[in-house]
Amino acid sequence: MQSLRFSALEHLSGVDATISGAEHTNKITDVFGSNVFSGKVMRESLSDEAYKSLMNSIKGGNKIERKMADQIAAGMKAWAMKKGVTHYTHWFQPLTGTTAEKHDSFFTLKGDGTALETFDGDALVQQEPDASSFPNGGIRATFEARGYTAWDPSSPAFIIEQGSGKTLCIPTIFVAYTGESLDYKAPLLKALSALDKAAVDVCNYFDKNVTKVTATLGWEQEYFLVDETLANARPDLVMTGRTLVGHAPAKGQQLEDHYFGSIPERAYAFMRDFEEESYKLGIPLRTRHNEVAPSQFECAPIFEEVNIAVDHNSMLMDIMNKVAKRHKLKCLLHEKPFAGINGSGKHNNWSMATDTGVNLLAPGKTPKTNLMFLTFFVNTIKAVHDHADLLRASIASPSNDFRLGANEAPPAIISIFTGKYLSEVLQEVKTRVSNKFDEQDEAILKLDLHRHIPELLLDNTDRNRTSPFAFTGNKFEFRAVGSSANCASAMTTLNAIMAKTLVNFKKEVDGLIEKGEKKEIAIMQTLRKYIVESERILFEGDGYSEEWEKEAAKRGLENIKTTPLALDAMVNKKNAELFISTGIYNARELHARHEILLEDYVKKVQIEARVIGDLATNIILPAAIKYMNQLVTNIQGLKSIGLGEESFLAQKQIVGKIAEHVNVISENVQKMIEARKVANKLTDQRQKAIDYCDKIKPYFDVIRYHADKLEFLVDDNSWSLPKYRELLFLR
Ligand code: ADP
Ligand code: MG
Repeated sequence: MQSLRFSALEHLSGVDATISGAEHTNKITDVFGSNVFSGKVMRESLSDEAYKSLMNSIKGGNKIERKMADQIAAGMKAWAMKKGVTHYTHWFQPLTGTTAEKHDSFFTLKGDGTALETFDGDALVQQEPDASSFPNGGIRATFEARGYTAWDPSSPAFIIEQGSGKTLCIPTIFVAYTGESLDYKAPLLKALSALDKAAVDVCNYFDKNVTKVTATLGWEQEYFLVDETLANARPDLVMTGRTLVGHAPAKGQQLEDHYFGSIPERAYAFMRDFEEESYKLGIPLRTRHNEVAPSQFECAPIFEEVNIAVDHNSMLMDIMNKVAKRHKLKCLLHEKPFAGINGSGKHNNWSMATDTGVNLLAPGKTPKTNLMFLTFFVNTIKAVHDHADLLRASIASPSNDFRLGANEAPPAIISIFTGKYLSEVLQEVKTRVSNKFDEQDEAILKLDLHRHIPELLLDNTDRNRTSPFAFTGNKFEFRAVGSSANCASAMTTLNAIMAKTLVNFKKEVDGLIEKGEKKEIAIMQTLRKYIVESERILFEGDGYSEEWEKEAAKRGLENIKTTPLALDAMVNKKNAELFISTGIYNARELHARHEILLEDYVKKVQIEARVIGDLATNIILPAAIKYMNQLVTNIQGLKSIGLGEESFLAQKQIVGKIAEHVNVISENVQKMIEARKVANKLTDQRQKAIDYCDKIKPYFDVIRYHADKLEFLVDDNSWSLPKYRELLFLR
């Protein structure tokens, strides 16, 4: 029988590159948000009273009364039914990393047998998914396995379409019956609210009119596209989202001919379709381009409030997977689907904005607004410095481990790039602010600092691409986030550490003011102190270089390369105190989350270990042995017609090499299985994860090395796994 690889290759040429499932409008604004229960739709479908109540709740997080909830639900239902919706679901983001839905129809039968379409306040506000199989880190004992989802009015409801089916989705948080959060959204909302409060307090030093601060996020999503039938012939891609073996192709990304190149037709058709779906859902996608590696692409939206941006990214990842299927493509969101070429990240561009319309990380136009900018800028540096370990933990995952510290991605060392002008500004504050610093010095310094700003604004070339956390003119870009991650993890942490730092900052400044210091001077002095305390985290050089690793070690910066150890930071005393004091997690939630992430690590590495064992045993070794037999038959044949050793030297040599690789693979697969047996007996989740990382994962490299050698040696016709050159270059 022909192998899947060859039938896939045959099929490939028959694919219509421009297939498209959707009609496309020429004007995005015509469809934008058409499937969203937006402010405008709310206004149209709700009574004044219900609209006001909902708006208040969105702005201030106030509770919505039961009666109002009924009215809002009725308005939502009417709108949704007019659009052909039959079902509704609470839509949430459990700790599996994907989104979850459980559809219920509006349809009900009343006691007297009347069939009705209903959707009331109760159904809107709360649902009880039978959710005993979501990760819970031991929070829910089986006798109390219930959880519930609760409406998050700050993220608008939306309609997803699948074929002709339409479902109303209500964004919700997901909590255990005992109250502990079991998802990404609940802690994120708490972190954002902590940040809001802390940032408003600090803003009020400069502007009394500020009453709300929202964090903003613009993510950049990288991904790979592979022909689906080719991908289906790779059990590793199907099961783990990455290739566990594969000989490097003759051509990789060295010609740099893909980055920003013209977009291939088939990828373009896919992009247009998923963009169209995204527009309807109000996801403001703006940018699309080829990325560095062959078959790698990126898309990015206009930034939004963090909570919405996170929901939109989760929705987008789901949409991309589904739309890819329609195009007979597989969308790979994994951080490192292919060895030897770039992996995928999801840069998180982050800033904070006031309700007076000021971006707090944009340098101001006047010396006074500059001091406000400088305050938030320095506090961010201090927050990242004090909690670098926690930030590292927030992006830790088995798949991101392959990327961090590899030669194309930010290192596992957290450092901050500020750019030349802001480095100078920080230096000036450091050297000129002193204890004897008076009002006149302060005024002159402020003016001097202000002089740097026009230079800063003009300078767009000052872009360091190797820093995990870089200032890019009016925002910070957290680059170490992985492409498959839910941004909520990084965002919860970043906003939490920022909130905590701002609270402390205010305490210190108020302390100085109480001692009689003038406000501006107290601020300058505290900023100076923060600069001195955190300057070791500032790094302007090449983050990919070996010198930086050495330098960072000298500076005492951590460089934790693996997830099981990186996660320790979540539960150490300092960070636990941070989460508990800001009300983002209680101790139980924090430990449960730590446990869940360790468990996730173990499971994912375990699956990979099984898959690589399977591949080796029943695909790679049989192919090698079959080819070896052909060679042996050939040698015997040559011998039988009387030819001597010199006529089959090459064959003999190849047989020898293949035999060696076959033996090494077979031996290491066995050893890996034994190591797994040992690790599986461990009951301590952390130790188990460390074992999987240090004792099992290393076998992957050995097995792969020899498998790739075999791929190179064995007859192409007997090799049934699609090769890198096919996966990466054929579309
Ligand atoms: P690049 O960094 O690639 O040069 P941009 O500076 O235009 O491109 O922005 C990159 C991303 O940063 C976009 O997704 C954009 O929405 C986002 N972004 C821009 N300003 C902000 C902000 N104030 N807060 C959060 N994200 C922002
Ligand atoms: Mg960028």
